[in-house]
Amino acid sequence: METETRDQLLDALKRFVDERLIPLEAKVSETDAIPADALAEMRALGLFGLSIPEEYGGLGLSMEDECRAMFEFCRCSPAFRSAFGTNVGIGSQGLVMFGTEAQKQKWLPGIASGEVVTSFALTEPEAGSDSASVRTKAELRGDHYVLNGAKRYITNANRASLFTVMARTDPSQKGGAGVSAFLVPRDSEGLSVGKPEKKMGQQGAHICDVNFDNVKAPLDMRLGEEGQGFKVAMQVLDRGRLHISSVCVGVAERLIEESVKYAAERKQFGQAIANFQMIQAMLADSRAEANAARAMVIDAARKRDSGQTVVMEAASCKLFCSEMVGRVADRAVQIFGGAGYTADHGIERFYRDVRLFRIYEGSSEIQRLVIAREMMKRGR
Ligand SMILES: Cc1cc2nc3c(=O)[nH]c(=O)nc-3n(C[C@H](O)[C@H](O)[C@H](O)COP(=O)(O)OP(=O)(O)OC[C@H]3O[C@@H](n4cnc5c(N)ncnc54)[C@H](O)[C@@H]3O)c2cc1C
Repeated sequence: METETRDQLLDALKRFVDERLIPLEAKVSETDAIPADALAEMRALGLFGLSIPEEYGGLGLSMEDECRAMFEFCRCSPAFRSAFGTNVGIGSQGLVMFGTEAQKQKWLPGIASGEVVTSFALTEPEAGSDSASVRTKAELRGDHYVLNGAKRYITNANRASLFTVMARTDPSQKGGAGVSAFLVPRDSEGLSVGKPEKKMGQQGAHICDVNFDNVKAPLDMRLGEEGQGFKVAMQVLDRGRLHISSVCVGVAERLIEESVKYAAERKQFGQAIANFQMIQAMLADSRAEANAARAMVIDAARKRDSGQTVVMEAASCKLFCSEMVGRVADRAVQIFGGAGYTADHGIERFYRDVRLFRIYEGSSEIQRLVIAREMMKRGR
C-alpha cells in the first residue's frame, strides 16, 4: 500500500476509534456484546479483510502495515479487535498460506467482507500449550474424513461460519506429524458450539467449546497435505504473534494517554500529581517500554515482509509486548489510585482485558521456550 493511502487509512481508524468505539466501551462491557451498527461500520472500513490479498477482496496489507493499523485501532477495548481478529489472523491465514485456488476463491471474499466469520480451532481440553498433542481425530473414509473430538476456548466460535480445525489423521504418530488441518463449515452435520464462557475480561468477545460428532469433511476441505496441519498452525501462530504484539502496543498507548491526562488533572497536596517524580517515573517507564515494543514489532514485521523467518522475533515480540502492556496497565491503575480500581474510568477493565495477552496464542512460558530453542539453533 502506498504510504499516502496507508496514512489515510490510519487517520480514518483513529477517527473511528475516538468518535465511535471509545464512547461504546462501557456499554460493550456491560452487555457483553458489540452493537450491530458498530460491527457494520467495522466491515465497511475493511477491517475484516486487512490481511486478505486484494484479488480476493481484502486490503492486502503487509505485516508492517497491519501492525501499524493495530497500533491505531487498539487504542480502544480489545474486544472490538477480537470481532475481526480471527478473520484477519488465525482464522484466515491457514487458508491464505496453504489453501488451494478453489478454496481461496470460495471463502476468502466472504472472509474479507466480514460476511463469513472464521475461527481457529487448535486447543482442546487436554491439549493447550502442548498443542501438538491434539486428540480430535479425522479418519479417512473413501472421499471424505470423519471428525470426532472437542475443541476448547475457540474465539468467535458462536459467530463463526467457518472453522480451521487441527485434527489427528495418523494416530500412530503422537506429535505434530500426525495432525492435518481442515476447513469445516459451521453448518456441517454433527458440529455443535457450546455456550460462551464467562471470562475475566474482554467482554464483547466470546469463546466457546466446539464439538465434532462424526462430522464429514470432504477431501477438498483439507488444508495443505495430510500431516501438514501442525505446520499450518505454527505458521499461522507465528504471524498471529506479531499481530497480537501490535495489539498490545495499541492498548498500551491508550493507557499511557489516559495516565498522562489524569496525572495532569488530578491535584493532591495543592498540585497536579504529574509534578511528583514518583508519578513521572511510572509514566516514563511506560513510555519507554511502549516505544521499545513498537520498534521491535516494526522490525520483526519488516523482516517477515522481506521473506525472512521470524519465529524467534515473533515469539520475542509476543513475550515482551504482552508483558509490557501488563506493566503499563498496572501502573495506570496506580496512577489513577482509587479511581483506577473502580469502574468509573475503565482502567480496571483494561487491567483485566490485557491479562489475556500473556496466555493465549502461546503463553509467555511457551514464547520463552520457542526463543530458547531458536537460540540453540542459531547459536546466539
Ligand atoms: C480468551 C481466550 C481465547 C482463546 N482463543 C483460542 C482460539 O481461538 N483458538 C484456539 O485454538 N485456542 C484459543 N485459546 C486457547 C489458548 O491458546 C490456550 O488457553 C493457551 O495456549 C494455554 O493453554 P491452556 O489454557 O491449556 O494452559 P496450559 O497449557 O494447561 O498451561 C497452564 C500453565 O502451564 C504453563 N506451561 C505449560 N507447559 C509448559 C512448559 N512446557 N514449560 C513451562 N510452563 C508451561 C503455561 O504457560 C501456563 O502458565 C484461547 C484462550 C482464551 C483464554
